[in-house]
Amino acid sequence: MRKPFIAANWKMNKTVGETMGFLSEFVPAVRDVSDVEVVLAPPFTSLAAAAEKIKDSNIILSAQNVFYEEKGAYTGEISPLMLVDAGCKFVIVGHSERRQYFGETDEIVNRKIKAAKKNGLGIIMCVGESLEEREGQKTFSVIQRELEKGLDGIDPLDLVIAYEPIWAIGTGKTATPEQAQEVHAYIRERLRILYGNRADELCIIYGGSVTPDNVDLLMACEDVDGALVGGASLKGESFTRIVKFRKVQ
Ligand code: PEP
Repeated sequence: MRKPFIAANWKMNKTVGETMGFLSEFVPAVRDVSDVEVVLAPPFTSLAAAAEKIKDSNIILSAQNVFYEEKGAYTGEISPLMLVDAGCKFVIVGHSERRQYFGETDEIVNRKIKAAKKNGLGIIMCVGESLEEREGQKTFSVIQRELEKGLDGIDPLDLVIAYEPIWAIGTGKTATPEQAQEVHAYIRERLRILYGNRADELCIIYGGSVTPDNVDLLMACEDVDGALVGGASLKGESFTRIVKFRKVQ
């Protein structure tokens, strides 16, 4: 059975002090959670301090981005080795904001995943369509392309796929459970082509305006194995409620 995987993506939010304040409440609040992987992706500047603060907890540290080279003259970039050194176990790759604002292509996503995996990092790979693509009936073809190109030559160990419809990110418009399930089932089908039965072990998580109010119904979908949470992960109380989602039949 797949263990639910719930990750906070803080994007460009929170100073080190604010991260510590959040964790002072959040670490004890989720201490009793053993049936969910709880993942936190703060900004780079908070990683080392967060790693120290969560070291005896059940919280897993993730970065939000990585560069594909090991080291060298790449001003402003962070290598996979540096993330491991800072205490990260996972990294988010291919977030739509990186694709949209920073020109990240499927080829770059693929290189980043390869470099991160080479250094032992787990991957949260984001895929998802824009509103225009959805309205133009291109959802499945976009996702097929992102998966095929992004995962070319990648083994599935510690791989998590995040389905994040771009029209639902930060907009307050969540995909309905039916919309999410339809795409998650499609992603699993594609993963089965790539990885055979191992596809059944992979977590496919949903991201896009997940809140305490909609998480229970989303998590009730057969192929929704977790959530990637932006806005609603910034407050301890709301992210705790998401991590402690209620099972609905
Ligand atoms: C995200 O950016 O990964 C995300 C899902 O954001 P939000 O929850 O704010 O829509």
